[in-house]
Amino acid sequence: MKTKNLTSSSFDLVFLGMGAANSLLFLELSRTQQLDLKKIAIIEPDSKNSNDRTFCFWATETEIQEFHLTELISKSWDFATAGSQKHENISPLKYHHISAISLYNKVKEEIKKYPVTYFHEFVEDENIKIDEKQVHVTLADFKLETDFFFDSRPPKFKKCTNNQTSLVQSFFGWNIKTEQSTFDSNEFVMMDFDLDQMGSTQFLYVLPFTENQALVELTAFQKNPLEKKDTEHLLHSEILKRFGEFQIIATESGNIPMCTAQIELPTEKFNPYFATGAKAGNIKPSTGYSFLTSCKQAQKISNDISSETSEKNKHTPYKTRFQFYDRLLLNILNQNPSAGKPIFERLFQRNSVKEVIYFLKEETQGWNEIKLLCSLPILPFLWAAIKDVFACLPWVKLMPFVLGSCFLGFDYLNATFIVWALLLFGLFLVGIPHGAIDHLLESNHFDAPIKVGFILNYLLKMAVMALIWWVNPVSALILFLLYSAWHFGESEYQVANIWSFLWGCFMLTSLLYSHPLEFKETLSNMSVNVSISNAFEIWIGSFTVLIIIQLKRGFHRIWEILWLPLFSQLPLLQAFGLFFVFNHSINSSIHLMDGFSKKAIELFKKALPFTLAAFLFLGGFYFFRTWFSAEGWIAAFFIFISCISFPHVFAMHRFYRSHFFLPKK
Ligand SMILES: Cc1cc2nc3c(=O)[nH]c(=O)nc-3n(C[C@H](O)[C@H](O)[C@H](O)COP(=O)(O)OP(=O)(O)OC[C@H]3O[C@@H](n4cnc5c(N)ncnc54)[C@H](O)[C@@H]3O)c2cc1C
Repeated sequence: MKTKNLTSSSFDLVFLGMGAANSLLFLELSRTQQLDLKKIAIIEPDSKNSNDRTFCFWATETEIQEFHLTELISKSWDFATAGSQKHENISPLKYHHISAISLYNKVKEEIKKYPVTYFHEFVEDENIKIDEKQVHVTLADFKLETDFFFDSRPPKFKKCTNNQTSLVQSFFGWNIKTEQSTFDSNEFVMMDFDLDQMGSTQFLYVLPFTENQALVELTAFQKNPLEKKDTEHLLHSEILKRFGEFQIIATESGNIPMCTAQIELPTEKFNPYFATGAKAGNIKPSTGYSFLTSCKQAQKISNDISSETSEKNKHTPYKTRFQFYDRLLLNILNQNPSAGKPIFERLFQRNSVKEVIYFLKEETQGWNEIKLLCSLPILPFLWAAIKDVFACLPWVKLMPFVLGSCFLGFDYLNATFIVWALLLFGLFLVGIPHGAIDHLLESNHFDAPIKVGFILNYLLKMAVMALIWWVNPVSALILFLLYSAWHFGESEYQVANIWSFLWGCFMLTSLLYSHPLEFKETLSNMSVNVSISNAFEIWIGSFTVLIIIQLKRGFHRIWEILWLPLFSQLPLLQAFGLFFVFNHSINSSIHLMDGFSKKAIELFKKALPFTLAAFLFLGGFYFFRTWFSAEGWIAAFFIFISCISFPHVFAMHRFYRSHFFLPKK
């Protein structure tokens, strides 16, 4: 196959797609003078000459000023009607309307101020390569690289998990002119359910521009988009019924995803790449609105790239508890498509329209939310909430709890062999495999062959550790504990810093000092004789520090320390095995799967030859244990583990740095 010699060029900023989000971003970057003297490219296949949609949103005057939207707004409404014809003043909010074409035209005018290179092409994921410093894009006849890349292509969603749902908000509307003056041009109709639901949830949405002109849309929340023929018929009869004879000036239709699944992204790890708009999750699943969130994101990106460190903070479009409420509603609609009408009608009967709008804007506090949620049909929401909580339970994090309790039971029943069998099984499944692909971490490539240089380097590090044990066991032990703490902490926090290290130190201290006698005995087997006094106080102290670190770090890993009191009741080796296999190794494996974008089975298969070799070796070690004294073989086992984990700590550190650490530009 012949390879084309493509012309290539470097850009400071590249905008992929020039729809709502990237237009808002371009305007914001231009306003803050961050485009001056910059080399800019825009890749957009569409000419953006048609008024293909409207952007409506609720906002206060302050927000309009903050996002510089005054000039774009073509109409605003002070009053709203919803549910069973409730009329309400929504002040200090207003419902604003922006025509897509006025945004597209405004940004085109702004673009003229800069020497922008335009490409009218579609770009797919395979044409984009992202590294820590730049994004590289291959077009039909051109290659470009850029320091900042804003990707606003439509989102692709991952497969829904148990508690996630994918519906569409489908709408079909006409901009109509009526013979009579029928509309109140100061009031829009948010949701009018007084029409045939046809087995789903559908309503009329009316935006009156004058007394005899309005956009009237039939909107449905359902699994599949509306069929044009059926919709036209229903819309026609509903308009006639409400407003009399009319004339169609323009049509508008579309489908907006109402999906609570995660969005697939090429990457979000590296600073040059920014997902924007719908691709960044800006569409709120329960409403389909994204405009104001994209305004906020434009401001945030503008601040991020102008800040001194240029470090990108995570963009979280919606608050966690509101994501939960959205999931509940969509799950109910998914299970029972016609449940929407009674839910929304009750919502508007028992709450003011303004309260509902603030809730949809995610600007309510806990108490208002409880009041609002209590006004909804209780049973379907309670049932959906129970299912959601179960689906969200962090089974991986609860596993040490569950297994720890089982181990206690087996020990009590003198069935300790089951404990060892489970630990061995876990060691085979994740414990050893998570460290058996270290050679891939060096090249950062999942299919890289193992190199001789790597093996020699690995063996050298092991030999250094063995030598330290031989020369000075106390120093070796201290070193072993320190790098273990470092490594355990790094794999908890996906980054190595003082907090992760402290976490590792106190986690190890808690584990060891809850078993003072066994700890002392194991140490003396390794020729390290120390007196262990005040073990209980040290254990309580380190456990308290762990809780404090958790508080400081926002309780991210509370599950993982709550099982420590339970572990103190198990023999040391069992407790350590549980921690190592069912917490540390599982966490690390999840990170490896994430970093290499591979499934668990692919990781396991890749590691299998090395896992089998390690098992054979350990089996041989156990078989020849009679060569050592009983204590000596345990000591030899630990020394071997410390030697083999020494190079592993380096390999994993390299992996975490390259996959989870955001470099400063
Ligand atoms: C009819 C209609 C009415 C709506 N009304 C509202 C409303 O009232 N309020 C509200 O908040 N939201 C509304 N929405 C939703 C809103 O329009 C979207 O959420 C918003 O446009 C998302 O912005 P975006 O920039 O992410 O995507 P878009 O605005 O869709 O822009 C994406 C751009 O990427 C380009 N593109 C696509 N694929 C590729 C590719 N492979 N390579 C390069 N470029 C590509 C497209 O041509 C497009 O220009 C409405 C949507 C429709 C369809």
